[in-house]
Amino acid sequence: MHVKNLECSFCHREYEPGRLHNVCTECGKPLLVRYDLKRIAKFLTRQSLFARRSDIWRYRELLPVRREDNIVTLGEGWTPLLHAKTLGESLGLSELYVKDESLNPTQSFKARGMSVAVSMAKELGAKKLAAPSAGNAGAALAAYCAHARIGAYLLMPRDTPRANIIECEVAGAHVRLMDGLITDCGAEVARLKESEGWFDVSTLKEPYRVEGKKTLGFEIAEQLAWTLPDVIVYPTGGGTGLIGMWKAFDELQQLGWIGEKRPRMISVQAAGCAPIVRAFEAGDRFAEEFENAATVASGLRVPKAIGDFLILDAIRESEGTAVSVTDEELIEGARELARSEGIFASPEGGACVPAIRQLLARGAVKPDEKVVLFNTGSGIKYLDLFESRSKARKTPRKSALGPAMRP
Ligand SMILES: *Cc1c(COP(=O)(O)O)cnc(C)c1O
Ligand SMILES: [Zn+2]
Repeated sequence: MHVKNLECSFCHREYEPGRLHNVCTECGKPLLVRYDLKRIAKFLTRQSLFARRSDIWRYRELLPVRREDNIVTLGEGWTPLLHAKTLGESLGLSELYVKDESLNPTQSFKARGMSVAVSMAKELGAKKLAAPSAGNAGAALAAYCAHARIGAYLLMPRDTPRANIIECEVAGAHVRLMDGLITDCGAEVARLKESEGWFDVSTLKEPYRVEGKKTLGFEIAEQLAWTLPDVIVYPTGGGTGLIGMWKAFDELQQLGWIGEKRPRMISVQAAGCAPIVRAFEAGDRFAEEFENAATVASGLRVPKAIGDFLILDAIRESEGTAVSVTDEELIEGARELARSEGIFASPEGGACVPAIRQLLARGAVKPDEKVVLFNTGSGIKYLDLFESRSKARKTPRKSALGPAMRP
């Protein structure tokens, strides 16, 4: 529609739209979509959005699909931005909000990216889409491919939550389980894609998932009456959501819809897999692979992200930071969100709670600042995680009845 071209995020080489692309052929970094925003600004106003559909396609002119009938949608996006009063009070924050992405199709924010990626794949004629997935990306790809009648091929670590594997299979995706991490699955996709005729839709290895994720930034701005919060706390794996929001804010400013003020972007990672936190603290522009990555928050188990420098640039430009939290803390964070607000958060979303607590304690966030936490998915996909603790609790009670424990 209003796409000018694709541009390499690193070396700025330009590519023609209207053809399938993966990464930059010169430097191997992600490609980003560039729009003719001057032209769009002439006819699209903030008011014109008002009566539009309640999904990501309300921002139609700012998304890359050309033909209306190529849009593959299951109603993704336009999720609630909830004022978390009780949790805010217990943390000491008067303006705490939760963007609750668990309400998306397939219960995570991966739906946004996959809706746009699958729409573009349909428009550009790809027949078999492949991706590595530690859970939610696979579920979303499977669902959107089913809806579009396109083949989905998923390589998943064997320890992916069962709910994710089952929902992929039920939606008719071809699932292969592998020993190893998502990076190993990604390498396998790269190895097989040519011979299998797959188009690789791994995070940031095609230009359109990030376009879907950027709608997070549009929505927050629109839901806050075209202002931005002071702080955004984002659980970071591959970083598409953070990179996408940062791009969205830039586009909104070019449209003249917001000013130059930006939120401080806070990246949260699990202590067992924190490549971005480590690189941020070391002052590096790129993040080295995190060895022996391990965390129960499967969406955060990304030891090496291709968009690392884009995440780190956004954090630094915004004067944000990167923090890590332990698995115990992030599970407890999810429980706190459920108890205090009724939001059954994924462990990734739960990670934002101990992160903001840490930041408040060291004075990096002030009590009167407007803070948005992202609950990126639903806790319902991770039942084992929440169940195992209630089982563990029962154990001492049983042994208390045993002879050794009697007074
Ligand atoms: C994928 C995922 C993340 C991480 O998202 P990125 O865009 O890869 O940083 C966080 N939370 C959940 C629930 C996810 O599925
Ligand atoms: Zn390049």
